[in-house]
Amino acid sequence: MAVVGDIHANFGALEAVLRDATDVEDIWCLGDIVGYGPEPAACLERVARQCSITLLGNHDAAVVGTLSLSTFNGAAKEAAQWTRGQLDQSAMLFLRSLAPVHHRRPVSLVHGSLRDPLWEYLLSDEAACATFTRMPGHLCLVGHTHVPLWVEEDRSGVALSRAIENGVPRELPARRIIVNPGSVGQPRDRDPRAAYGVLVLDGVRPVSFEHRRVPYDIGSTQARMHAIGLPEELISRLSVGR
Ligand code: ZN
Repeated sequence: MAVVGDIHANFGALEAVLRDATDVEDIWCLGDIVGYGPEPAACLERVARQCSITLLGNHDAAVVGTLSLSTFNGAAKEAAQWTRGQLDQSAMLFLRSLAPVHHRRPVSLVHGSLRDPLWEYLLSDEAACATFTRMPGHLCLVGHTHVPLWVEEDRSGVALSRAIENGVPRELPARRIIVNPGSVGQPRDRDPRAAYGVLVLDGVRPVSFEHRRVPYDIGSTQARMHAIGLPEELISRLSVGR
């Protein structure tokens, strides 16, 4: 099972990830398919065709109008407004059909957090605790921060780690766990390569999770963004992964 999230209309990054994930039979998407990037329609078409579970992200919600654009900063707002003009009716209907949370016991998937599915950035011990108290099962997959993360629940609270080893399947512990695979299309952990994860299930039971990074043609995505006239700050950040 590949787990992808925060694709952000970066089709070059998404294609690189899907080419890399040859060892999976299914894909789950944690939301933010569109927003920021230059190819929203192509990303939506691919996600709708290949992912068996797809969540709604805050940028997706802003594009379909269920979330007000006034909650966004200037560059994000500008990109969301441009994105609206790029999507046909079927793409809009697909986005409107999505929800930000999905429970598939014993795994929960959520864009932000179980306390605030569209908006909360799960980066602190306190935020992790709030999600653990709302988790019906063993594992929760989250996106939204664009930062790979591994959080285990322990007796004294939580053990939160951003030090992720890529390319190595990590056995899931007996204790409960929250994992963020990172962002496909706009990483923010100072590694500009596309990020995704591979979850191995035994039946429905989660067994291991592997974080992966994949290089892609960043210059080509940036050239498309320049040609459209998307904000410079959204273009330059792709080179540095922040
Ligand atoms: Zn995002």
